[in-house]
Amino acid sequence: MFVSENLDINNAGHLTIGGVDTVELAKEYGTPLYVMDEQMIRKTLRRFHDSMKKYYNGKGEVHYASKAFSCMEMCRVVASEGDGLDAVSIGELYTAYKAGFPMDKVGFHGNNKTDEELRFAVEVGVGHIIVDNISELHRLEAIAAEMQAKPDIMFRIKPGIDAHTHDFVKTGQIDSKFGFALETGEAFEAVKEAISCKNVNLSGLHCHIGSQIFDIAPFEEAARVMLGFIAKIKNELGFEVKGLNLGGGFGIKYLNEHDPAPFEVYLERVSGVVREECSKLGIELPAMYIEPGRSIAAPAGITLYTVGARKEIPNIRTYVSVDGGMADSPRYILYGSEYEAIVANKAKEERSEKVTIAGKCCESGDLIGENMPLQHAESGDIIAVCATGAYNYSMSSNYNRLQKPAVVFVNEGKSSVVVKRETLDDIIRNDI
Ligand SMILES: *Cc1c(COP(=O)(O)O)cnc(C)c1O
Repeated sequence: MFVSENLDINNAGHLTIGGVDTVELAKEYGTPLYVMDEQMIRKTLRRFHDSMKKYYNGKGEVHYASKAFSCMEMCRVVASEGDGLDAVSIGELYTAYKAGFPMDKVGFHGNNKTDEELRFAVEVGVGHIIVDNISELHRLEAIAAEMQAKPDIMFRIKPGIDAHTHDFVKTGQIDSKFGFALETGEAFEAVKEAISCKNVNLSGLHCHIGSQIFDIAPFEEAARVMLGFIAKIKNELGFEVKGLNLGGGFGIKYLNEHDPAPFEVYLERVSGVVREECSKLGIELPAMYIEPGRSIAAPAGITLYTVGARKEIPNIRTYVSVDGGMADSPRYILYGSEYEAIVANKAKEERSEKVTIAGKCCESGDLIGENMPLQHAESGDIIAVCATGAYNYSMSSNYNRLQKPAVVFVNEGKSSVVVKRETLDDIIRNDI
C-alpha cells in the first residue's frame, strides 16, 4: 500500500509507523520530526548479514555506512546486531567511539582525510583504513610509524564501472575524485608500494560503484574486475589480498514504481560470481565486506511536518507549505529526489490532488517535491514524507537559523527521543 512495509493505517484512520500512530507522535514531540522504526533497521541489517551467512558461509562482514544516518543510538543498534560500521570523518568515528562501538569493526573512509583524522583512527584502533590516494598512504605510513602502530589498510579502487547510466558502462569512471585508477596502472603501482611499507598492512581492496542502484549486473561486474586485479597481484607480486570490500549502493523503493532487486538476491548473485571467479583464477576466497547505508536507514524513516499555508494558483499549481524544508530535507533541492507523501491524519482518504509541497526557507527551490499525489491538505494537517531515514537528518543544516528537528525511534509500540530537538540557544551556542 505504501512504499515502506512498516507503514500502515490504524482504526482512527491515521498513518502508523512500526505500529505507532504518527499523528500522536507529532502531537507528543512536535514537528518537523524524524521518526525511525528500530525493528525495521534491525530487520534489514539481518537480511544482509543472514544472506552473507547463507550465500558466502559468513566469510565477511556487513558494515553499515553511517553517513546515511549517524547518531549514537544508531551505532548502538548496529553494534547489538553484531554488524560493523563505515565512517567517513572524525565526527562519524567519534560518534561510534563514544557510543561504545567495537572499533575493530569499523572501516574508515574519505578521499581527503586529515592527519588529525588518521591519527584518531589509528589511536582508537579501527579495523581498517580505506586509503584513497598515494599521498594519504605516505602520510599514514609516517603517522603509524610515529605511533608505533601497523594499521590494516584497504585501497579504494576505481573499477571503471559507471552504474549510473541506463545500461551501465565499463568506462568513464576514471573521472572520479575517489580512489586509485586501474586502467592507468596507478592502482598496481600503489599496491607494490604498500606491500613494501613497514607500518601498514595491505589487508584488502575496496570499490563502491554508486548509490541507489537497482541492477545487480554492475555489482557482479565490479566483483569480476576486482578479483581479476587480486589475481594479477598474486601472479605478478606473489602477494595475497585477503579482503574484498564491494561497498554499498543497494537501491530502495522511494516511489511505488521503483522495483529494486531484493538484497538477498544481490548477495546470492554476487557471492556466486566471487566463488566462480576465485576458482577460475586460482585464488583463495577473500573475506567479503559490504557497506549498505541508504538501504538500511531510508526505508525505516519518515519525516513529519505540520501544514501551514495553502496557496492555490489557478491553472498553475497548488502549494502546500510545511514547517520544515531544505534544511531538514535537502535531497529534492540537491538531486530532485522524489518521495511519497501522505496526510497522516487523513491516511484513509484518497490522494485526490497533485500538489507542490514547499518548505519554509527563503529559496524558491526549497521544495519537498512537485506533482505529489496527496489527500486534500489544509492548515494544521500532518504530512508524512516516506523513506526519509537516509541522507536527510545526516545532511540537515541550520539554514535560516532553523533548529534541527528531533529524531525519535519507535520500537515495539513505544517511542523515545534519540536526538533532541535543537533549542534556540543551540542556534547561538558557538556565537561570540
Ligand atoms: C556512500 C557510501 C556507501 C553507502 O552507500 P549507500 O548508497 O547509502 O548504500 C558505502 N560505501 C562508501 C565508500 C560510500 O561512499
